[in-house]
Amino acid sequence: MERNLRMKKILLFLLLCAAVSNALPVHPEKDNKEDAKLVEVTLFRIIGRNWKCQKMQQFFGLKVTGKPDTETLEMMKKPRCGVPDVGLYGVTLPGWKKNKLTYRIMNYTPDMSKDDVDKAIQKAFKVWSTVTPLIFTRIHEGIADIMIAFGTKAHGHCPRYFDGPLGVLAHAFPPGDGFGGDAHFDEDEDWTTGSDGFNLFLVAAHEFGHALGLSHSNDQRALMFPNYAYVSPSEFPLSPDDISGIQSIYGSPTKIPDKSPPNPTRPKTCGSQISFDAVTTLRREIMFLKGRHLWRVYPDNSEVELELISAFWPTLPSGIQAAYENMKDQILFFKGNMFWIISGYQVLLGYPKNINTLGFPKGVKKIDAVVCNKNTGKTDFFIGDKYWRYDERSQSMEKGYPRRTVNDFPGISQKVDAVFQHKGFFYFFHGSRQWEFDTTAKKVIREMKSNSWFNC
Ligand SMILES: [Zn+2]
Ligand SMILES: [Zn+2]
Repeated sequence: MERNLRMKKILLFLLLCAAVSNALPVHPEKDNKEDAKLVEVTLFRIIGRNWKCQKMQQFFGLKVTGKPDTETLEMMKKPRCGVPDVGLYGVTLPGWKKNKLTYRIMNYTPDMSKDDVDKAIQKAFKVWSTVTPLIFTRIHEGIADIMIAFGTKAHGHCPRYFDGPLGVLAHAFPPGDGFGGDAHFDEDEDWTTGSDGFNLFLVAAHEFGHALGLSHSNDQRALMFPNYAYVSPSEFPLSPDDISGIQSIYGSPTKIPDKSPPNPTRPKTCGSQISFDAVTTLRREIMFLKGRHLWRVYPDNSEVELELISAFWPTLPSGIQAAYENMKDQILFFKGNMFWIISGYQVLLGYPKNINTLGFPKGVKKIDAVVCNKNTGKTDFFIGDKYWRYDERSQSMEKGYPRRTVNDFPGISQKVDAVFQHKGFFYFFHGSRQWEFDTTAKKVIREMKSNSWFNC
């Protein structure tokens, strides 16, 4: 039994190596004896094809030996996609010449309910439509661009075969007529909605990447990496590599126009009672947030610009409660127990996340204010009359917190609405007041109106 399993693993690797030369002499009905023969024959052929194994090892980022060593076998025995890697690597195929595509589900797997299959397929298309201008519409008859089917071994008129349980899970064809765009799933696998067996949503999302024109990625974090790896469905499965790949073919999503009336309650910065929800720096500018608006202040040339938050980041909610710029040129926005990370105009995928992923206990429901001290790499989160300290380098919460704010920031005795760092000072906001705090001398230098940064 053991030996049989090992033999199968070796066989799988050899077949994968052989697959690049389009030799797929698989016949699942063969008994062990014939398997052994096949291994011998294939081994013999492989010797002359060492360079192809080398290429494969290169692709998977393994030590290039040209031989099927243990590390290579480990990598190769993992369940994977049946689209060949070598020869396609680095080539971006031309995509569809249209943005509206149709799909049709030809048959169902008995492993899951029909409803769950429909949902998994729909969700897998959404992964790609989120980051492109592509629109997918389901049809129930006729020929769709992307025909989806489950099958085993030799299936339909498909030029590729499936290999029984494990090994190859699915395959798909690049954009085009006929089989072009079609995606087939090996019915000999156990398809699921969860982490057991193979998650149909994840495999489908990968195959649809091929159906849209992507080849395999050698970045292990990429959805387009050829081996199956389960990720929790709450996490968005695309990596930056996948996104830049698909956007190089189809471009970015079309912006949804802001339907809200223009500035219905345009806030007056120079009113004496103005308070702010959050304040953060972004390189040389300071951003003040309130409701749906943000002001960008450039202290060096005393310029002020008023904008809608949604004009910059359409997916962010209004009423952000806290924000800070980290050491990596990113801004973190907080509302309730959720936070978003922004890099340039992009909200990082997979966000919002719960603040307990930063190390806050479940009881913490919101952040009032937050600032990162760029000199120390420590970020202070203010909640009520206490604060928590987070280490940006180790990405972890420091021990011994929360502490009372007033003990470490004498003079800051009220709840903090907003805080930011500028030239070695912290600026704390409460209502229409502001305090300039010297972080070295640990004392308040002066008290000002909250709108002192605007040319009122
Ligand atoms: Zn693939
Ligand atoms: Zn097929």
